[in-house]
Amino acid sequence: MTSDALHPDASWAAFPARAIVNLDAIEHNARALRDACTAPHMMAVIKADAYGHGIIPVSRAALRGGADWLGAAQASEALELREAGITVDQARILTWLHGPGVPFSELIIHDIDVSVAAYWVLDGLAEAAATLKQPARIHLKIDTGLGRNGIMPEDLPEFAARVAELQKEGLVHLVGVWTHLALADEPGNPTIAKQKDVFDDAVAVVEAAGTPVEIRHLANSAALLTAPDMHYELTRPGIALYGFSPVPQVQPPSAFGLVPAMTLEAELATVKHVHKGQGVSYAHLYITTEDTILGLVPLGYADGIPRHASGGSAGVGGPIAVGDRVLRVAGRVCMDQVVLDLGPDAQERPGDVVTLFGPTDGLAYGASVPNAEDWAAAAGSISYEIVTRLGARVPRMYVGGPSDE
Ligand SMILES: *Cc1c(COP(=O)(O)O)cnc(C)c1O
Repeated sequence: MTSDALHPDASWAAFPARAIVNLDAIEHNARALRDACTAPHMMAVIKADAYGHGIIPVSRAALRGGADWLGAAQASEALELREAGITVDQARILTWLHGPGVPFSELIIHDIDVSVAAYWVLDGLAEAAATLKQPARIHLKIDTGLGRNGIMPEDLPEFAARVAELQKEGLVHLVGVWTHLALADEPGNPTIAKQKDVFDDAVAVVEAAGTPVEIRHLANSAALLTAPDMHYELTRPGIALYGFSPVPQVQPPSAFGLVPAMTLEAELATVKHVHKGQGVSYAHLYITTEDTILGLVPLGYADGIPRHASGGSAGVGGPIAVGDRVLRVAGRVCMDQVVLDLGPDAQERPGDVVTLFGPTDGLAYGASVPNAEDWAAAAGSISYEIVTRLGARVPRMYVGGPSDE
């Protein structure tokens, strides 16, 4: 008979769950990537709050590991880095996704390189540069086949001519030409070589317009780790920095020596007996098959636990390590909570810590604790989404790194 008394070691916390981010793992991954990178420069991509891990501590750890650039999708993220005291001597920063209202002057003042893929951005930067009497450092983004952001190759000659004019006027300084791959996670896919050819042609067009190109870059994590001919002067790893393989076919234990940096754990909120035939959670997708004990885990889709990882008739639920067992979410993932069927002989008590995922090879590779890939498999998603969507409500705790952080 299990007791529902709080575990004697349970301590009060503001939130009964946490994401523990190991900064030494980030630094280790950055160093492993730096070692694999044949380019002189490496940009740690820290967009989206460093894929949910925390932008400032992760950026500092990546710089310790050998990155010398930081990549931010949004201007607000780039400025946050400078506000935190990361100077241009410590890291060049590139930001690339702009909407109306983007603070061009602020970006120039704070020594942030800006990607340009539209005339309105080029003109906005030139105008801000004229006022500040300081040229904007730009990287032209080319759409070499991804079909997303970027200047189409047929529009490039005219665009490059305009850039060359502005450079002569001292309003912009062209630093880089860059692009992004559509299928880098499928090494050998013919689109990769094709995009490279289009890219090389684009660089030639820009140089022919009279603007030398200092830095060419297109390699994300997958291309960094599988295609050294794509490194050019700079690589841009993201997911690998956080410890996940960017290539589905290359998984632990051979996954490039990367170590997942994040552990997501929670304390059981309640433990209770129920009878056989008890429907569990919304819509009763899971029904107990015997008298049993249910445990309540206080994390739900508000915290980024994918509702697609519901269990029971909904499918195979997301995995959670309880002691030395791995159980699957029973029934629907709710907004704030999920339920586990702990079994009739469960000894767990409220306050016991359970682990949703951590720095392991993953269940598919014999680990006894799931990793984020296992959650991705349960939810029909990818590791990127599992860690990045972790909710703002979940406290991040940091371990490793210099003691003054
Ligand atoms: C997110 C992103 C990256 C990093 O990609 P990973 O697959 O996470 O390595 C690189 N470049 C650009 C433009 C990106 O948006």
